[in-house]
Amino acid sequence: MTTAFLDLGTTHVACRDELQAAFARVLDKGHFILGEEVEAFEAEFAQYCEVPHCVGVGNGLDALHLILRAMDIGMGDEVIVPAHTFIATWLAVSQCGARPVPVEPTPRGYNIDAVAVEAAITPRTRAIIAVHLYGEPADMGALRAISNRHGLRLIEDAAQAHGARYKGQRTGGLADAAAFSFYPTKNLGALGDGGAVTTHDAALAERIRLLRNYGSRIKYQHDVAGYNTRLDELQAALLRVKLRTLDALNAARQQVAQRYLQALADIPGLRLPHPPAFAEHVWHLFVIRSHQRDRLAHALTERGVATMVHYPTPCHLQGAYRNDGYPALTATTALCEEILSLPMWPGLDPEPVIDALRDASH
Ligand SMILES: *Cc1c(COP(=O)(O)O)cnc(C)c1O
Repeated sequence: MTTAFLDLGTTHVACRDELQAAFARVLDKGHFILGEEVEAFEAEFAQYCEVPHCVGVGNGLDALHLILRAMDIGMGDEVIVPAHTFIATWLAVSQCGARPVPVEPTPRGYNIDAVAVEAAITPRTRAIIAVHLYGEPADMGALRAISNRHGLRLIEDAAQAHGARYKGQRTGGLADAAAFSFYPTKNLGALGDGGAVTTHDAALAERIRLLRNYGSRIKYQHDVAGYNTRLDELQAALLRVKLRTLDALNAARQQVAQRYLQALADIPGLRLPHPPAFAEHVWHLFVIRSHQRDRLAHALTERGVATMVHYPTPCHLQGAYRNDGYPALTATTALCEEILSLPMWPGLDPEPVIDALRDASH
Protein backbone atom coordinates (compact mmCIF):
# COMPACT_ATOMS: atom_id res chain seq x y z
CA MET A 1 0.00 0.00 0.00
CA THR A 2 1.21 3.49 -0.75
CA THR A 3 0.28 6.87 0.69
CA ALA A 4 0.33 9.83 -1.70
CA PHE A 5 1.60 13.19 -0.49
CA LEU A 6 -1.63 14.90 -1.55
CA ASP A 7 -4.86 13.46 -2.97
CA LEU A 8 -7.66 15.91 -3.78
CA GLY A 9 -9.78 13.28 -5.54
CA THR A 10 -12.09 12.66 -2.59
CA THR A 11 -12.70 16.37 -1.92
CA HIS A 12 -13.81 16.80 -5.53
CA VAL A 13 -15.91 13.64 -5.69
CA ALA A 14 -17.97 14.97 -2.76
CA CYS A 15 -18.99 18.13 -4.66
CA ARG A 16 -18.71 16.90 -8.24
CA ASP A 17 -22.35 17.53 -9.17
CA GLU A 18 -22.28 21.04 -7.73
CA LEU A 19 -19.04 21.84 -9.58
CA GLN A 20 -20.58 20.65 -12.83
CA ALA A 21 -23.71 22.71 -12.20
CA ALA A 22 -21.53 25.79 -11.57
CA PHE A 23 -19.67 25.17 -14.83
CA ALA A 24 -22.95 24.80 -16.74
CA ARG A 25 -24.30 28.01 -15.19
CA VAL A 26 -21.29 30.03 -16.41
CA LEU A 27 -21.32 28.36 -19.82
CA ASP A 28 -25.02 29.07 -20.29
CA LYS A 29 -24.73 32.68 -19.17
CA GLY A 30 -21.78 33.24 -21.54
CA HIS A 31 -20.17 35.94 -19.39
CA PHE A 32 -16.60 34.95 -18.50
CA ILE A 33 -14.78 38.01 -17.08
CA LEU A 34 -15.80 40.16 -14.06
CA GLY A 35 -19.45 39.23 -13.77
CA GLU A 36 -21.92 38.06 -11.16
CA GLU A 37 -19.95 35.00 -10.05
CA VAL A 38 -16.85 37.02 -9.15
CA GLU A 39 -19.02 39.56 -7.35
CA ALA A 40 -20.85 36.85 -5.43
CA PHE A 41 -17.65 35.03 -4.52
CA GLU A 42 -16.07 38.27 -3.33
CA ALA A 43 -19.04 38.93 -1.04
CA GLU A 44 -19.05 35.36 0.28
CA PHE A 45 -15.29 35.18 0.87
CA ALA A 46 -15.28 38.62 2.56
CA GLN A 47 -17.98 37.38 4.90
CA TYR A 48 -16.03 34.17 5.55
CA CYS A 49 -12.89 36.18 6.43
CA GLU A 50 -14.94 38.59 8.58
CA VAL A 51 -13.90 41.65 6.54
CA PRO A 52 -15.97 44.15 4.51
CA HIS A 53 -13.96 43.93 1.25
CA CYS A 54 -12.61 41.22 -1.04
CA VAL A 55 -11.19 41.70 -4.55
CA GLY A 56 -10.66 38.63 -6.74
CA VAL A 57 -7.41 38.59 -8.73
CA GLY A 58 -5.48 36.22 -10.99
CA ASN A 59 -3.29 34.46 -8.40
CA GLY A 60 -1.68 34.83 -4.98
CA LEU A 61 1.52 36.47 -6.22
CA ASP A 62 -0.49 39.19 -7.97
CA ALA A 63 -2.62 39.66 -4.84
CA LEU A 64 0.56 40.49 -2.87
CA HIS A 65 1.97 42.61 -5.69
CA LEU A 66 -1.21 44.69 -6.07
CA ILE A 67 -1.41 45.29 -2.31
CA LEU A 68 2.14 46.72 -2.36
CA ARG A 69 1.38 48.82 -5.48
CA ALA A 70 -1.83 50.12 -3.94
CA MET A 71 0.22 51.20 -0.90
CA ASP A 72 2.62 53.07 -3.24
CA ILE A 73 5.56 50.92 -2.20
CA GLY A 74 8.33 50.93 -4.81
CA MET A 75 11.86 51.88 -5.75
CA GLY A 76 14.09 52.67 -2.78
CA ASP A 77 11.70 51.12 -0.24
CA GLU A 78 12.32 48.10 1.96
CA VAL A 79 9.75 45.49 2.93
CA ILE A 80 10.38 43.04 5.76
CA VAL A 81 9.61 39.44 4.75
CA PRO A 82 10.16 36.05 6.38
CA ALA A 83 13.49 34.48 5.39
CA HIS A 84 11.65 31.15 5.44
CA THR A 85 8.73 31.28 3.00
CA PHE A 86 7.67 30.38 -0.53
CA ILE A 87 9.51 32.67 -2.97
CA ALA A 88 6.31 34.49 -4.06
CA THR A 89 6.44 36.57 -0.86
CA TRP A 90 9.84 37.96 -1.93
CA LEU A 91 9.01 38.23 -5.65
CA ALA A 92 6.01 40.48 -4.99
CA VAL A 93 8.35 42.95 -3.26
CA SER A 94 10.95 42.75 -6.03
CA GLN A 95 8.27 43.30 -8.71
CA CYS A 96 7.50 46.69 -7.14
CA GLY A 97 11.16 47.68 -7.31
CA ALA A 98 11.46 47.48 -3.51
CA ARG A 99 13.96 45.31 -1.60
CA PRO A 100 12.87 42.29 0.43
CA VAL A 101 14.58 42.38 3.86
CA PRO A 102 14.50 38.89 5.35
CA VAL A 103 13.94 38.11 9.04
CA GLU A 104 14.51 34.61 10.40
CA PRO A 105 11.89 32.40 12.06
CA THR A 106 11.27 32.01 15.80
CA PRO A 107 13.71 29.58 17.46
CA ARG A 108 11.04 26.90 17.95
CA GLY A 109 8.68 27.50 15.06
CA TYR A 110 8.50 28.26 11.35
CA ASN A 111 6.97 31.76 11.30
CA ILE A 112 8.72 35.15 11.33
CA ASP A 113 10.25 36.13 14.69
CA ALA A 114 8.52 39.35 15.75
CA VAL A 115 11.37 40.15 18.17
CA ALA A 116 13.89 40.08 15.31
CA VAL A 117 11.66 42.21 13.07
CA GLU A 118 12.29 45.36 15.08
CA ALA A 119 16.08 45.10 14.57
CA ALA A 120 15.60 44.89 10.77
CA ILE A 121 13.72 48.20 10.50
CA THR A 122 15.59 51.06 8.77
CA PRO A 123 14.47 54.54 7.65
CA ARG A 124 13.59 52.93 4.27
CA THR A 125 11.26 50.27 5.71
CA ARG A 126 7.66 50.74 4.56
CA ALA A 127 5.89 47.48 5.36
CA ILE A 128 6.03 44.05 6.98
CA ILE A 129 4.64 40.97 5.21
CA ALA A 130 3.71 38.23 7.68
CA VAL A 131 3.24 34.75 6.20
CA HIS A 132 0.96 32.27 7.97
CA LEU A 133 3.27 29.49 6.92
CA TYR A 134 1.97 25.91 6.64
CA GLY A 135 -1.46 27.13 7.88
CA GLU A 136 -0.30 28.55 11.25
CA PRO A 137 -1.13 32.21 11.93
CA ALA A 138 1.90 34.42 12.59
CA ASP A 139 2.11 36.44 15.82
CA MET A 140 -0.02 39.28 14.46
CA GLY A 141 -0.51 41.06 17.79
CA ALA A 142 3.24 41.54 18.24
CA LEU A 143 3.69 42.52 14.58
CA ARG A 144 0.81 45.01 14.78
CA ALA A 145 2.40 46.66 17.82
CA ILE A 146 5.76 46.98 16.01
CA SER A 147 4.22 48.28 12.79
CA ASN A 148 2.16 50.86 14.72
CA ARG A 149 5.21 52.00 16.67
CA HIS A 150 7.21 52.57 13.45
CA GLY A 151 4.40 53.76 11.17
CA LEU A 152 4.64 50.72 8.85
CA ARG A 153 1.96 48.94 6.83
CA LEU A 154 1.24 45.34 7.84
CA ILE A 155 0.30 42.75 5.21
CA GLU A 156 -0.74 39.11 5.56
CA ASP A 157 0.38 36.46 3.08
CA ALA A 158 -2.50 34.10 3.85
CA ALA A 159 -1.96 31.84 0.81
CA GLN A 160 -1.57 28.78 3.09
CA ALA A 161 -4.06 29.69 5.81
CA HIS A 162 -7.67 30.04 4.55
CA GLY A 163 -9.90 29.76 7.61
CA ALA A 164 -7.13 29.78 10.25
CA ARG A 165 -7.68 31.99 13.29
CA TYR A 166 -5.44 34.19 15.45
CA LYS A 167 -6.97 34.68 18.94
CA GLY A 168 -10.33 33.69 17.46
CA GLN A 169 -10.15 36.08 14.51
CA ARG A 170 -9.89 34.82 10.93
CA THR A 171 -6.84 35.34 8.77
CA GLY A 172 -7.58 37.87 6.05
CA GLY A 173 -8.69 40.49 8.58
CA LEU A 174 -5.61 40.66 10.81
CA ALA A 175 -3.64 43.41 9.02
CA ASP A 176 -4.04 46.34 6.61
CA ALA A 177 -4.62 43.86 3.79
CA ALA A 178 -4.24 40.13 3.12
CA ALA A 179 -3.32 38.13 0.02
CA PHE A 180 -4.87 34.72 -0.68
CA SER A 181 -4.01 32.16 -3.36
CA PHE A 182 -6.51 29.64 -4.74
CA TYR A 183 -3.86 27.53 -6.46
CA PRO A 184 -5.38 24.03 -6.64
CA THR A 185 -3.36 22.52 -3.77
CA LYS A 186 -4.17 25.27 -1.23
CA ASN A 187 -6.74 24.68 1.53
CA LEU A 188 -9.26 26.52 -0.66
CA GLY A 189 -8.22 25.68 -4.21
CA ALA A 190 -9.73 26.54 -7.58
CA LEU A 191 -9.46 24.23 -10.60
CA GLY A 192 -6.78 26.52 -11.99
CA ASP A 193 -5.15 29.74 -10.84
CA GLY A 194 -6.90 32.33 -8.68
CA GLY A 195 -6.30 34.75 -5.84
CA ALA A 196 -7.88 37.48 -3.72
CA VAL A 197 -7.15 40.47 -1.54
CA THR A 198 -9.17 40.99 1.64
CA THR A 199 -9.15 44.19 3.71
CA HIS A 200 -11.05 46.47 6.09
CA ASP A 201 -9.87 49.47 4.03
CA ALA A 202 -12.45 50.57 1.42
CA ALA A 203 -10.06 52.96 -0.36
CA LEU A 204 -7.35 50.30 -0.66
CA ALA A 205 -9.90 47.77 -2.02
CA GLU A 206 -10.99 50.33 -4.63
CA ARG A 207 -7.37 50.92 -5.75
CA ILE A 208 -6.87 47.18 -6.13
CA ARG A 209 -10.09 46.90 -8.17
CA LEU A 210 -8.60 49.49 -10.53
CA LEU A 211 -5.14 47.91 -10.67
CA ARG A 212 -6.43 44.40 -11.46
CA ASN A 213 -8.34 45.61 -14.54
CA TYR A 214 -6.08 47.91 -16.61
CA GLY A 215 -6.53 50.80 -14.17
CA SER A 216 -10.06 51.09 -15.47
CA ARG A 217 -13.36 51.68 -13.67
CA ILE A 218 -15.27 52.69 -16.80
CA LYS A 219 -14.56 50.76 -20.00
CA TYR A 220 -11.78 52.38 -22.09
CA GLN A 221 -11.07 54.98 -19.42
CA HIS A 222 -7.74 54.32 -17.65
CA ASP A 223 -7.09 56.27 -14.46
CA VAL A 224 -3.85 54.53 -13.46
CA ALA A 225 -1.32 52.27 -15.24
CA GLY A 226 -2.83 48.98 -14.12
CA TYR A 227 -2.44 45.28 -14.85
CA ASN A 228 -4.54 42.46 -16.20
CA THR A 229 -4.98 40.08 -13.27
CA ARG A 230 -8.62 39.18 -12.66
CA LEU A 231 -10.24 36.18 -11.04
CA ASP A 232 -12.13 34.27 -13.80
CA GLU A 233 -15.92 33.94 -13.61
CA LEU A 234 -15.53 30.20 -14.02
CA GLN A 235 -13.03 29.87 -11.17
CA ALA A 236 -15.19 32.13 -8.99
CA ALA A 237 -18.24 29.91 -9.64
CA LEU A 238 -16.23 26.78 -8.72
CA LEU A 239 -14.73 28.49 -5.65
CA ARG A 240 -18.23 29.36 -4.38
CA VAL A 241 -18.98 25.63 -4.29
CA LYS A 242 -15.70 24.77 -2.61
CA LEU A 243 -15.91 27.60 -0.05
CA ARG A 244 -19.00 25.92 1.41
CA THR A 245 -16.88 22.83 2.18
CA LEU A 246 -13.81 24.67 3.54
CA ASP A 247 -14.59 24.43 7.25
CA ALA A 248 -15.29 20.70 7.02
CA LEU A 249 -12.10 20.12 5.02
CA ASN A 250 -10.02 22.12 7.51
CA ALA A 251 -11.57 20.12 10.37
CA ALA A 252 -10.57 16.91 8.59
CA ARG A 253 -6.99 18.21 8.28
CA GLN A 254 -7.03 19.07 12.01
CA GLN A 255 -8.08 15.51 12.78
CA VAL A 256 -5.13 14.10 10.84
CA ALA A 257 -2.77 16.57 12.55
CA GLN A 258 -4.05 15.66 16.04
CA ARG A 259 -3.43 11.99 15.31
CA TYR A 260 0.09 12.71 14.01
CA LEU A 261 0.90 14.86 17.06
CA GLN A 262 -0.31 12.21 19.46
CA ALA A 263 1.22 9.18 17.73
CA LEU A 264 4.61 10.66 16.81
CA ALA A 265 5.35 12.37 20.15
CA ASP A 266 7.49 9.54 21.51
CA ILE A 267 9.60 8.90 18.39
CA PRO A 268 13.15 9.98 19.22
CA GLY A 269 14.87 12.46 16.92
CA LEU A 270 11.67 14.00 15.52
CA ARG A 271 10.64 17.57 16.31
CA LEU A 272 6.93 18.03 15.86
CA PRO A 273 5.11 21.30 15.18
CA HIS A 274 3.71 22.93 18.32
CA PRO A 275 1.41 25.82 17.43
CA PRO A 276 1.29 28.65 19.96
CA ALA A 277 -1.86 29.02 22.08
CA PHE A 278 -3.04 32.01 19.99
CA ALA A 279 -3.12 29.96 16.77
CA GLU A 280 -5.94 27.87 15.31
CA HIS A 281 -3.88 26.02 12.71
CA VAL A 282 -5.44 24.74 9.45
CA TRP A 283 -2.57 22.39 8.56
CA HIS A 284 -1.94 23.25 4.94
CA LEU A 285 1.22 21.23 5.57
CA PHE A 286 2.38 19.05 8.46
CA VAL A 287 6.10 19.69 8.75
CA ILE A 288 8.46 17.85 11.12
CA ARG A 289 12.17 18.36 11.73
CA SER A 290 14.92 15.77 11.89
CA HIS A 291 18.71 15.92 11.75
CA GLN A 292 18.44 12.76 9.61
CA ARG A 293 15.95 14.29 7.18
CA ASP A 294 17.29 12.80 3.95
CA ARG A 295 17.71 9.31 5.45
CA LEU A 296 14.20 9.50 6.89
CA ALA A 297 12.65 10.70 3.61
CA HIS A 298 14.37 7.86 1.77
CA ALA A 299 13.20 5.27 4.32
CA LEU A 300 9.62 6.54 4.04
CA THR A 301 9.72 6.37 0.24
CA GLU A 302 10.88 2.76 0.51
CA ARG A 303 7.89 2.06 2.75
CA GLY A 304 5.44 3.59 0.25
CA VAL A 305 4.98 6.98 1.94
CA ALA A 306 5.53 10.08 -0.19
CA THR A 307 7.03 13.18 1.43
CA MET A 308 8.14 16.62 0.23
CA VAL A 309 10.30 19.49 1.48
CA HIS A 310 8.81 23.00 1.78
CA TYR A 311 11.23 24.46 0.86
CA PRO A 312 14.59 22.85 0.07
CA THR A 313 16.46 26.08 -0.83
CA PRO A 314 15.93 29.35 1.04
CA CYS A 315 14.98 32.38 -1.05
CA HIS A 316 18.28 34.22 -0.44
CA LEU A 317 20.25 31.29 -1.91
CA GLN A 318 18.09 30.98 -5.05
CA GLY A 319 19.50 32.19 -8.35
CA ALA A 320 16.96 35.02 -8.23
CA TYR A 321 18.53 36.52 -5.06
CA ARG A 322 21.97 34.90 -4.63
CA ASN A 323 23.90 37.96 -5.83
CA ASP A 324 21.94 40.55 -3.88
CA GLY A 325 24.20 40.74 -0.85
CA TYR A 326 22.09 38.94 1.71
CA PRO A 327 23.66 37.71 4.98
CA ALA A 328 24.06 33.98 5.70
CA LEU A 329 20.66 33.60 7.48
CA THR A 330 21.98 30.53 9.28
CA ALA A 331 18.79 29.56 11.13
CA THR A 332 16.77 29.48 7.90
CA THR A 333 19.49 27.61 6.01
CA ALA A 334 19.74 25.00 8.81
CA LEU A 335 15.94 24.67 8.90
CA CYS A 336 15.82 23.89 5.18
CA GLU A 337 18.14 20.91 5.81
CA GLU A 338 15.92 19.49 8.57
CA ILE A 339 12.30 19.98 7.50
CA LEU A 340 10.14 17.23 6.07
CA SER A 341 6.48 17.54 5.04
CA LEU A 342 4.36 14.45 5.78
CA PRO A 343 1.30 13.53 3.70
CA MET A 344 -1.61 15.84 4.60
CA TRP A 345 -5.06 16.14 3.07
CA PRO A 346 -8.67 15.87 4.20
CA GLY A 347 -9.59 12.22 4.58
CA LEU A 348 -6.03 10.90 4.69
CA ASP A 349 -5.53 7.76 6.80
CA PRO A 350 -2.47 8.70 8.91
CA GLU A 351 -1.88 5.19 10.31
CA PRO A 352 0.34 3.87 7.48
CA VAL A 353 2.44 7.04 7.72
CA ILE A 354 2.78 6.65 11.48
CA ASP A 355 3.72 2.95 11.14
CA ALA A 356 6.30 3.76 8.48
CA LEU A 357 7.83 6.53 10.60
CA ARG A 358 8.07 4.21 13.65
CA ASP A 359 9.66 1.54 11.52
CA ALA A 360 12.06 3.97 9.82
CA SER A 361 13.16 5.50 13.13
CA HIS A 362 14.60 2.31 14.63
C1 LIG B 1 1.13 29.66 -3.04
C2 LIG B 1 1.73 30.80 -2.33
C3 LIG B 1 1.80 32.08 -2.89
C4 LIG B 1 1.48 32.38 -4.32
O1 LIG B 1 0.28 31.97 -4.79
P1 LIG B 1 0.06 31.70 -6.37
O2 LIG B 1 -1.41 31.66 -6.50
O3 LIG B 1 0.74 30.43 -6.70
O4 LIG B 1 0.64 32.87 -7.10
C5 LIG B 1 2.27 33.11 -2.12
N1 LIG B 1 2.71 32.91 -0.87
C6 LIG B 1 2.70 31.69 -0.30
C7 LIG B 1 3.17 31.54 1.10
C8 LIG B 1 2.21 30.59 -1.01
O5 LIG B 1 2.22 29.38 -0.44
